[in-house]
Amino acid sequence: MFKYCGYAGQVLEVDLTRLKAIPKPLDAVLVRGYLGGAGFCSRVLYDEIGPRTRPLGPENVLIIATGPLTGTLFPQASRHVVAAKSPLTDIWGEAHAAGHWGAELKFAGFDAIIVRGRSPKPVYLWIDDGRVEIRSARGLWGKDVYEADEMLREEVGDGWCTKMLYIGQAGENLVRFAAVMNDLDRAAARTGMGAVMGSKRLKAIAVRGSKDIPIADDRGYMELMDELRVKMLADPFTQGRADYGTPSLVELMNEIGRLPTRNYETGVFEHAEEIGGKLIRRKYLVKPRADFACLQRCGRYTCVPAGPYAYIGGSPEYETLSCVGSKCGISNVESILYAHHLCNRYGIDTCSLGGTIAWAMECYERGILTDEETGGIELKFGNHEAMVKLVGMIAFREGFGDLLAEGSYRAAQKIGRGSKKYVMAIKKQEIAGQDGRAQKSMGLGNATAARGADHLYAFPVLDEVGFEKAIKERFGARYLPEIGEKLNPRYKGLMVKECEDFAVVVESVGVCKYGTMIPPTFYYRDVLRALNATTGMGLTERELRRTGERIVNLNRMFNVRHGIRRRDDTLPERLLKEPSPEGPPKGHVVELDYMLDEYYRLRGWDPKTGLPAPKKLRALGLDFTIKHLPKRGRPSR
Ligand code: SF4
Repeated sequence: MFKYCGYAGQVLEVDLTRLKAIPKPLDAVLVRGYLGGAGFCSRVLYDEIGPRTRPLGPENVLIIATGPLTGTLFPQASRHVVAAKSPLTDIWGEAHAAGHWGAELKFAGFDAIIVRGRSPKPVYLWIDDGRVEIRSARGLWGKDVYEADEMLREEVGDGWCTKMLYIGQAGENLVRFAAVMNDLDRAAARTGMGAVMGSKRLKAIAVRGSKDIPIADDRGYMELMDELRVKMLADPFTQGRADYGTPSLVELMNEIGRLPTRNYETGVFEHAEEIGGKLIRRKYLVKPRADFACLQRCGRYTCVPAGPYAYIGGSPEYETLSCVGSKCGISNVESILYAHHLCNRYGIDTCSLGGTIAWAMECYERGILTDEETGGIELKFGNHEAMVKLVGMIAFREGFGDLLAEGSYRAAQKIGRGSKKYVMAIKKQEIAGQDGRAQKSMGLGNATAARGADHLYAFPVLDEVGFEKAIKERFGARYLPEIGEKLNPRYKGLMVKECEDFAVVVESVGVCKYGTMIPPTFYYRDVLRALNATTGMGLTERELRRTGERIVNLNRMFNVRHGIRRRDDTLPERLLKEPSPEGPPKGHVVELDYMLDEYYRLRGWDPKTGLPAPKKLRALGLDFTIKHLPKRGRPSR
C-alpha cells in the first residue's frame, strides 16, 4: 500500500504508440517534494521534455494529475491539471479545470495519467474502477464535446455516474489554443493542451470509480472540515459568488478601468452593463452550479431561449465576457453567451480566441488586413456576427480561421506588415481579461508567469479588491501599506512572489483557487492542516512554503532550458508605453522594470538575465537542474 493517505497510490502510464496502459505505483519521494497536481507534472515533465521535443510530436508527454485533496471534503477539492509542452507558447504548458472528473479518477484508483506516444487511430480510454481499456474512438472522432459525451454514455453505460474528459474538433484539428474539456462545460483551457491530446489521437477519457480515499486522521480531519466549512460559509463573498458568479467582475473591472476594451485601447467599456453579471443573472440564469465539494457555486447554467443565438448550457466566466466581449468591442451579450457555448462544444480557450479575434479586428480597422484576406468578413470591432462565425472557422481551420487557429503571435508573424505591434500576448499566449495598467501586480504577474500570459499563476488580486486585513495577515511583519495600492508599483515584486508560491501549492493539492485565494479564506496554515490530516505527511509550514518555491523555480528552469530570459518576462508595448486613456488608471503605464528588479531579487534570480542562481536551486533541492543553466550569463553562485 502507498505510504501516504489521501492518494490513490497509482499512476496510469499509457503508451499510445503501442496501445498499452500500465498502472505503476506513485513515487512517495516525488510526492513528498512536489505534492501532486501541478507539482507532480513539473517534476515528471522536467525529465521527459527538452528543447527538442516538438509540442505536437509523439515525443511530447501529456499528464493529467490530481492532488492529495482532490476528491476529499476540503472546500472546492475539485481540481485536476493537464500539462505538457505547449504548442502555443513552445514552453511550459499547463491548464486547470474543476468539475467532477478529477475526483472520479481518484475513486477509480489513479492519481494521475501519463500519456506518451501517438495512437495510429483515434482512441479513448475507459477506466472502470481500476480496470483500463484502450478503445477505438472511430465513431467519436469529428464529434463535438456534447455529442461525444452522449455517445460515450451510451457506450459505457451507467448514466451520469461516469465522468468524461474529452477534446472537441479544435483539439482534433490542432488549433493551438484548443482546450481539454470535462463534465461537458469545464475547460482546462490555456496553452493548447487540447491540441496535444488531439496530436496523440486521444479523444476522451471516461472514468468511473467506487474506491475510498484513505484519510490519515479521520477524527481530526472531520473536525477540521467542519471548521473550514463554517469559515467559508461565513464569508460574504460566498453568497455573492453563488448569486452572480465571476460575471459580476465585468462591472467591477470597468469601474476600476481594468476591463480590456477594443484590444486594450482602453480599460473602460461604455457597454459594460450590457454584458455584465447583473444582466446575465436577470435575463439568462437558469441556476448556479457547483463542482465537486464546492461551497461557492460560482459556475452557472444559462439559457438564451430563442433567436440566432439560442442555446442552453454552461455560462461564461468573467474572462470570456471580457475577451470575447469588450476586447472585441462587442455588446451583444447573447452572441457572447453563444460563442462561449460553441467554444465549449468545439473545445476552445475563450481567452486566446477573444485575444486573437480582437487582434485581427484591430488589424482590419487599421487596414493591415484586407477583405480579401478575411474572406469578405467585415472584421470591425463590435461585429458580433463575424465573431461568432469565426469560432467555427477557427475550430475547423476553414479559410481565414486557419490563420487565426495559430494564435495572434504566429498569425502576425505570418502576415507581417506591422501587425505584431497589436499582438496582446506574452510569451506567445494572449492575455486574458486583465489590463496591468490598472493593477500593477497583475501586470507583473502576467509577465513572470511560467505558461505565458497568465492572470492565475500568481492570482495577485489582494490589492485589487482592497483586502487590507488579508494583506496584513498574509504578509505579517513585512506588511507595507503600498502593497494594497493597486496603482503603486512598490512591493508588487514581493506580492507576486508570495502569491505565486502559494498558488502553486493550491494547484498541487488539487483545490480551486476561488474561495481559497480570493477571497483569501484560506492560507498556508489551513492547507497545511488539511494536508497533514489527510495524508499523514507531517509537513511543516516552512516545508510547504519551500515546496511552492521549489515548483515555481522548477517551472522557471523548464523555461530556461527553452531559452526564456528576463527579456521574455515582458508585456506588449501598448501596456508599457501607451498610458491608459481614462478611468482611475488614466495616465498610467506598467512600470515593469522597477517591479521585475524587486521580484528577481526576492526570487534569488539574476537581475540581468532572470536566471535562477545555482545557490537558490541547490537550497530548493533542484541540483539536477543546474547543468541546464547556460554558460553565458550564468549567475556565479
Ligand atoms: S468556486 Fe467555482 S470553479 Fe471553483 S470549484 Fe466552485 S464552482 Fe468550481
